[in-house]
Amino acid sequence: MIKFLDLQKVTQKYSKEIHEAVSRVIDSGWYLQGKENETFEKEYSQYIGTQYTIGVANGLDALIWIYRAYIEIGVMKPGDEVIVPANTYIATILALTENGLVPVLVEPNYQTLEIDDNLIEKAITKRTKSIFIVHLYGRCAYTEKIGELCRKYNLKLVEDNAQSHGCVYRGRRTGSLGDAAGHSFYPGKNLGALGDGGAVTTNDKILAETIRYLANYGSTRKYVFKYIGRNSRLDEIQAAVLSTKLRHLDEDNNRRKEIAKQYIFQIHNELIKFPITLPEEQNVFHIFPILCEQRDELQVYLKENNIQTLIHYPIPPHQQECYKEWNNWHLPVTEKIHKCELSLPMSPVMTEEEVQYVIETLNKWKK
Ligand SMILES: *Cc1c(COP(=O)(O)O)cnc(C)c1O
Repeated sequence: MIKFLDLQKVTQKYSKEIHEAVSRVIDSGWYLQGKENETFEKEYSQYIGTQYTIGVANGLDALIWIYRAYIEIGVMKPGDEVIVPANTYIATILALTENGLVPVLVEPNYQTLEIDDNLIEKAITKRTKSIFIVHLYGRCAYTEKIGELCRKYNLKLVEDNAQSHGCVYRGRRTGSLGDAAGHSFYPGKNLGALGDGGAVTTNDKILAETIRYLANYGSTRKYVFKYIGRNSRLDEIQAAVLSTKLRHLDEDNNRRKEIAKQYIFQIHNELIKFPITLPEEQNVFHIFPILCEQRDELQVYLKENNIQTLIHYPIPPHQQECYKEWNNWHLPVTEKIHKCELSLPMSPVMTEEEVQYVIETLNKWKK
């Protein structure tokens, strides 16, 4: 069986270094808020190209804290509107509703699968405070037009960079293109921990400080609480693992790009379409999505041929039970993507034979 993602193999590749890093923390006797976090935060800031990184418990929290901090600072208030793509993982939307902010769902572009920047301006109202872009699948959702709209209407540009660690847009990394970005280090992400982990990157000193307090019980000093915070810290073992894996991220992303190139140039089947990658972005292929109108049949065929695929995602946020009040909204592009999307096996540890087998099997598929 060709796995969608063989996590055991991903970890094995750097097993020795990872074991050394974990042992270092075990032996140190210091497990939270220590040197490992400090080092990882410094290295990650340098990698992404921002002044600050704040390690937090997971990617969802990173996104929640950005908006919560904007509310605490007085930049936003509950009831304000945030423009967000309608096709995203639920965490993006949860980060807004958790803060009492109103998600304004904007349709994606079917060519790129990212938010359609032509539809943003007409969604802006007096209550809009932010554009929340999601760099989905390892791509870049930022465009110059989005940057201009943020300046024109004085909106905070927030990035969900959970899926695009290492992606570059015109020489700058995603996660440094807006006012603040949330990152997830969920094990299956391009930069994955051995458990949960997340971070916020920003150049905004006040925002960074506020998030650091919020994620540590709202505490500004030991036993002094300025905010009603939570415990949402990145632990030292995960920080040490992340520092180790960060050193290999570009190499791993390059392998993903090679596999993607083979998929793109060698899969010839008129029933299968690929989203386009724009010349100004360097896609890091967290996920390799294809679009196929007979998606469910194709998935069964691949499974019969021992190829595991996933769907990102089967049900869009507006059709979820948790957002019942949106269930009758009609978002045709989003719904079409959710009906046609299929994610092929993709990881830096796939072998040449596995890649070729996936390509051949897809090329043989007929209706
Ligand atoms: C993974 C993911 C998140 C959430 O990250 P967790 O660390 O799992 O909480 C948020 N947004 C997107 C787009 C994701 O893919």
